[in-house]
Amino acid sequence: MTVAIIERHKFGGTCVNTGCIPTKTLVASAYAAHVARRGAEYGFVVDGEVRVDMKRVKARKDEISGQSTRGVEEWLRGLNNCTVIQGHARFQSARTVVVNDEILEADKVFINVGGRASVPSMQGINDVPFLTNSSIMDVDFLPEHLVIVGGSYVGLEFAQMYRRFGSEVTIVEMGPRLIGREDEDVSEAVREILDMEGIQIRLNAKCISLGNVDGGIVVGLDCAQGPPEEPGTHLLLAVGRTPNTQDLGLDRAAVVTDQRGYIVVDDQLQTNVPGIWALGDCNGRGAFTHTSYNDYEIVADNLLNGDHRRVSDRIPTYGLFIDPPLGRCGMTDAEIRKSGRAALAAKHPMSRVGRAVEKGETQGFIKISVDAETKQILGAAILGTGGDEVVHVLLDVMYAKAPYTVVQRAMHIHPTVAEFLPTVLSKLQPPG
Ligand SMILES: Cc1cc2nc3c(=O)[nH]c(=O)nc-3n(C[C@H](O)[C@H](O)[C@H](O)COP(=O)(O)OP(=O)(O)OC[C@H]3O[C@@H](n4cnc5c(N)ncnc54)[C@H](O)[C@@H]3O)c2cc1C
Repeated sequence: MTVAIIERHKFGGTCVNTGCIPTKTLVASAYAAHVARRGAEYGFVVDGEVRVDMKRVKARKDEISGQSTRGVEEWLRGLNNCTVIQGHARFQSARTVVVNDEILEADKVFINVGGRASVPSMQGINDVPFLTNSSIMDVDFLPEHLVIVGGSYVGLEFAQMYRRFGSEVTIVEMGPRLIGREDEDVSEAVREILDMEGIQIRLNAKCISLGNVDGGIVVGLDCAQGPPEEPGTHLLLAVGRTPNTQDLGLDRAAVVTDQRGYIVVDDQLQTNVPGIWALGDCNGRGAFTHTSYNDYEIVADNLLNGDHRRVSDRIPTYGLFIDPPLGRCGMTDAEIRKSGRAALAAKHPMSRVGRAVEKGETQGFIKISVDAETKQILGAAILGTGGDEVVHVLLDVMYAKAPYTVVQRAMHIHPTVAEFLPTVLSKLQPPG
């Protein structure tokens, strides 16, 4: 096929430039500083205070992100029959797209426009300087006191990272707990981890206004407990994502979006208009790089290989890359309860996992739920060292639709966190 790909900003999009790659690079710098501060526990001496050079931290991040974005662009420009166009694309009709006054016509159009940080309208939003996941990528200094509005995945990663860089950090979350989509025990364990590092956490505190004060900002709160204002030197908004669909001319193509602006797609990612597909964050069916990539695989296999892959075939999975990380797959306990299935569950603290003890990283736990009748794994949360990797052992067994007993009979490497999965599974019992 002859293909044109249109990009208005940086190649690689959010993941490469302002999402996964730069944040995980920064998380690695923060982890190194954290371990250095704990040097004495491991038997080495750090002479003097561990201080982070933010210019060098940012330079490392820029280098790693930059390699990826350059790699993506070079690869695209080197593809046969692929024209790379820089500019903002807009539909003129269901078959035509305008970019830089050029009109492109195609019988197949793939929308993959992603999203951006949501900026809620509230008192003071236009007067107060604030950071988002994009603009914080340019920060090459240490904020004295970073106030983060939003205690979910993005906010928590930045919170721990900046605390470890040396900032005072306050998280303001309107819900009763952090990462409210997770089970309560996961939220609570994550809160404890962050609390132990000296991060201030304000729960049940809705940010309702922003203001400037001498040398910084102040967040006005609607809260029953604690002070009604949280002052800081810098402000990061991490309150969700908005799809980039408002400036695409979707109405001219008659492509339907939902109330929040996500493009409505079917189980094979086709929009309501034949010949137009929507992939990635803009379709609201996932919010991760792996869900975006899986969208591509579904569309490509169905279109090019005569396959019948569907979004509903995939099992939810993701990581929260605080330290220690959370690896999640399948259903939460709350979802299992809601489904009415008879389940068995087991939980095992990381403090009793040899590998975690050896590494001096014993926070968190492993918990797994299985279907009492079919013995298939329903879901797992592995909060602890290596949790983001270990969870794949369970995920692959879930895809194989095999019973959990397969994991119990497998021989795993010693000493690893994964070798404890059979032990955890031997403790399965009805949840109580
Ligand atoms: C701080 C942060 C950390 C994250 N960490 C992780 C993580 O660890 N793991 C994970 O799986 N996910 C993570 N994510 C989510 C992940 O980055 C996204 O899910 C993923 O990038 C979505 O890919 P996409 O292709 O759908 O869209 P995007 O990556 O957003 O790409 C869309 C592209 O379309 C371009 N574009 C938009 N409109 C137009 C237009 N009209 N014309 C031309 N070009 C246009 C944009 O410039 C952009 O390059 C993170 C996100 C954030 C914000």
